[in-house]
Amino acid sequence: MPDLPPLREVIAAHGLSASKKLGQNFLFDEQLLDRIAAIPGDLSGQNVLEIGPGPGGLTRALLRAGANVTAVEMDDRCLPALAELSDAFPGKLSVIHGDAMKLNHNEIMGGEPYHIASNLPYNVGTALFVNWLSGAQWPPLWRSLTLMFQQEVAQRIVAPSGGSAFGRLAVLAQWRSEAKLALKVHRSAFTPPPKVMSAIVHVTPKAAPEGVAPRTLERITEAAFGQRRKMLRQSLKGVPGALDALAQVGIEPTRRAETLSVDEFVAIARKLGGHAG
Ligand code: SAM
Repeated sequence: MPDLPPLREVIAAHGLSASKKLGQNFLFDEQLLDRIAAIPGDLSGQNVLEIGPGPGGLTRALLRAGANVTAVEMDDRCLPALAELSDAFPGKLSVIHGDAMKLNHNEIMGGEPYHIASNLPYNVGTALFVNWLSGAQWPPLWRSLTLMFQQEVAQRIVAPSGGSAFGRLAVLAQWRSEAKLALKVHRSAFTPPPKVMSAIVHVTPKAAPEGVAPRTLERITEAAFGQRRKMLRQSLKGVPGALDALAQVGIEPTRRAETLSVDEFVAIARKLGGHAG
């Protein structure tokens, strides 16, 4: 393994003061970073897309795990530090300077299967997460997601039905994927520490239920959780055919969204076919 300087030295040498605007909170604890890089399983020889490597803490852990890493970073100040890392692991790291929200990830990974690992600013992380899970192609080209979120968001992603955390994100994350809370990360692990606790979510695709249009499922959860305190007969009124579909699958219209299971949402969407408007 190459002998790398401590991350704090890298930051100092390249003048990488954390930018608030870019949502930068860096991780320096190499043991923690190795634990994060181990979450997807054995990565040796696997392709990994890392979004937002910053000074390269998680990047070096992924490289130590044997991955071939493609890293997309927006902040040009980080590029010299990443170039040094690329030199230390010849042929294993390629860095793309750009905005991950504007890139086609399958394309930059050359159409080959890949894993995704990222510690992103929370707004960007959630938007990318929704995109990765909303794709028409299933299973997707990505094989796993290992993503840092605000703990409260992580809990909404893995939430079981029946509680206040259960909502659109949970249904999106669970109807054709396994989503697990893999690791809680204390705010003090970051420099500078964010205001809230964080957690890593690990997601792997599973077989999609047959006969369900993702857009229809989305339309139903949007309506149902948009008025989550209301009974379904009220909240789903505006979705053409939804109340009939409820009756056909035997779901009481007096129930509220958060009491339904993911499977029940899937059953309604299947009944509706592609006709939810
Ligand atoms: N991965 C590093 C770590 O764990 O220490 C840095 C994490 S920091 C929370 C997030 C990084 O994402 C920053 O380096 C920031 O510049 C980068 N970033 C923010 N928005 C981005 C975007 N849309 N595309 C690519 N990188 C982005």
